[in-house]
Amino acid sequence: MLVKINRNSGIPLIGAIQFGIIDRGTNLLQIRPTTVCNLKCSFCSTRAGDHETDFEIEVDYLLDWIKEAARIKGDNLIAFIESVGETLAYPKIIDLIIGIKKIKEFKEIILMTNGILLTKEKIRELKKAGVGKINLSIHSLDFKRSKELAGCEYNILHIIEMAEYIKEQGIELILTPVYIPNNEKDIEELIMLSKKLGCKIGIQKYEIHRTGRKLKNVKEMTYYTFYKKLKEWEKKFDIKLLLNRRDFDIEKRARIETLFQKGDKIRVEVKEKGWWKGQFLGIKNNRLITVIGENLGLNSLITAKIIDNKDGIYIAKKL
Ligand code: SF4
Repeated sequence: MLVKINRNSGIPLIGAIQFGIIDRGTNLLQIRPTTVCNLKCSFCSTRAGDHETDFEIEVDYLLDWIKEAARIKGDNLIAFIESVGETLAYPKIIDLIIGIKKIKEFKEIILMTNGILLTKEKIRELKKAGVGKINLSIHSLDFKRSKELAGCEYNILHIIEMAEYIKEQGIELILTPVYIPNNEKDIEELIMLSKKLGCKIGIQKYEIHRTGRKLKNVKEMTYYTFYKKLKEWEKKFDIKLLLNRRDFDIEKRARIETLFQKGDKIRVEVKEKGWWKGQFLGIKNNRLITVIGENLGLNSLITAKIIDNKDGIYIAKKL
């Protein structure tokens, strides 16, 4: 089921993991307009496509919240448009970018995408709207393997063509593959592609998430092994692979106030079904609270206990 969230819903856009705005205490704001995805990756940490409910936010409503968050956070902000799904599956993506570009506090807009919905025309549109950087999720250059990883129809040649065109258009490009243990060949080929394109590559570690999709017979590597391998590749390919905040112009910044602490007992208005079965969206003091509970009545008032509040993402359990 797709739930469209607009001003009339009264659902706040800060407090949830799956949509809205996330502030992790830097000058970068994560902006998540939709949970919908066009792929079904076999290693997807968010298990896109398997959820009880998907969400899509009305663009003007999202922009209202982004303006308010920017006012609180101050100047030199980076808008990182991303998703637990796919950003280009959001029908109003261009309007969203145009809207953010007009907010004076933002100095840069970055878009994360899996690239499948890119066309040359779309890339020109994204550039014109104000995108300065594209993070492209690409995990293998092998035709068969990339399709297996995507879990559906997938044309790697199209992605490579789009990557080349992004560069041609003067948009900064970053390849962001997931390093799955035993796929060293894939990563080495992607490093060579990044060198050929003259773009950065931000290799990510494969992580097994309790609720995510897991690859069969693949174990997670330790951070020690991961960084050791990156260092080896840095030498082998004469390229910088250990990237940190400074490489992306990210600096620490005061957070938007955290309103609830772990252990707090609060009265919550239940507004909508949650992302997963057994979850509901609740509201308290203009913040979204994910409430864990069964068969909660919509628009009812319940008492819940906050069990997590990391980065202002609130999880509560019905008492
Ligand atoms: S990994 Fe990304 S592109 Fe793949 S299914 Fe998950 S959200 Fe979609």
